[in-house]
Amino acid sequence: MSTNDEQQTKKRIAVMGSTGSIGTQALDVIRANKDHFTAEVLTAGSNSDLLIKQALEFQPNAVVIADEKEYQKVKEALLPHDIKVFAGEKSLVQIVEMESIDMVLASIVGYAGLSSTINAIKNKKPIALANKETLVVAGEIVTRTALENAVNLFPVDSEHSAIFQCLAGEFHNKIEKIYLTASGGPFRGKKKDFLQNVKKEQALKHPNWSMGEKITIDSATMMNKGLEIIEAKWLFSLKKEQIDVIIHPQSIIHSIVQFEDGSMKAQMGLPDMKLPIQYAFTYPDRIPSSFPRFDFLNYPQLTFEKPDHESFPAIQMALDCLQKGGNLACALNAANEIAVHAFLHDKISFLDIAATVEKVLGKINFVQSPSIETLMETDKTARTLAKEITG
Ligand code: NAD
Ligand code: MG
Repeated sequence: MSTNDEQQTKKRIAVMGSTGSIGTQALDVIRANKDHFTAEVLTAGSNSDLLIKQALEFQPNAVVIADEKEYQKVKEALLPHDIKVFAGEKSLVQIVEMESIDMVLASIVGYAGLSSTINAIKNKKPIALANKETLVVAGEIVTRTALENAVNLFPVDSEHSAIFQCLAGEFHNKIEKIYLTASGGPFRGKKKDFLQNVKKEQALKHPNWSMGEKITIDSATMMNKGLEIIEAKWLFSLKKEQIDVIIHPQSIIHSIVQFEDGSMKAQMGLPDMKLPIQYAFTYPDRIPSSFPRFDFLNYPQLTFEKPDHESFPAIQMALDCLQKGGNLACALNAANEIAVHAFLHDKISFLDIAATVEKVLGKINFVQSPSIETLMETDKTARTLAKEITG
């Protein structure tokens, strides 16, 4: 077999956001399974050093650095290699059109990942979706565009991967309900009097998962679970009443599907994002892995609790946005991105994150069936409003 033919049998993956927590773990999966995958494209926001290092190791066809100031440095470092180098937001969106890409891993964080994911869908690329904000902002448009282009969205988020795994062989059966599990984050069991004084260092210490800063703060406020409820609605065509959240501090059961006969299927395993990443890459197959195995005797108890909506109002806010629909979830996401950023820069307190989002939601003009342009407008307005509040 020639090298060219060999290439064709491997899945060529565009790793969008390759320098992040999901991106680097995806490259771990690709590195461990060189017979199955190659990294066709790597992209980064501004971390040019890591992008260069990754490009030298994985020899992708092309790389994109979003931050144009870093272009020259990346270009020069990769000059002796046969690797195309692009920079800027436009290139980030266009790169997914490359014919040689077999799958796009959407693992840029936040609203910044939306346009490239939509363009990938329009270009009929299967998506491994880590970027939940894409579905929060524009779930209706994204899922409709995916349907029109016969493109599959394979969930990478561990809860949604769990549900997807439980649904294998069951897609024709009606879902009565799903339970999204949540660890409860670093402040599980704490009340507002404690939460008002917590510092970012405490909020950034997640008990079970090591992740990027934004999602780690979202986990501490429980906004992450709120975003995941909306993500689940769009991925699995569910109504609000069909989605429940249960706190499960050990993060071993990653989520549960309950069918019409009352039977419940759960997917479990140690908390390790490499598994859902790999499953999204290999679906419907499974391939061997050396990920650490779960040992029952290390976990004599798996426990469950009700979420505390009083101390953590974010889940309820997300449910309200889901219920009312339109452009509200888009505003929720934008306000949250700004508030999390402000908290990480010591501008606002922990409780101000949810308070900021709530204030912005109260001010946004409701649009029932927004176009993508309207959503972009909503995103901008919500950011401006949130910035006015956070200073
Ligand atoms: P991260 O902050 O670690 O990485 C983000 C990546 O996106 C980096 O490569 C960064 O360079 C790039 N990026 C950031 N801003 C950009 C911009 N404006 N333009 C272009 N690129 C940009 O984030 P993460 O934790 O890997 O999360 C990525 C996505 O996956 C998020 O949507 C998150 O909710 C989701 N997710 C993450 C985890 C996890 O364990 N980390 C689990 C489930 C879902
Ligand atoms: Mg998750």
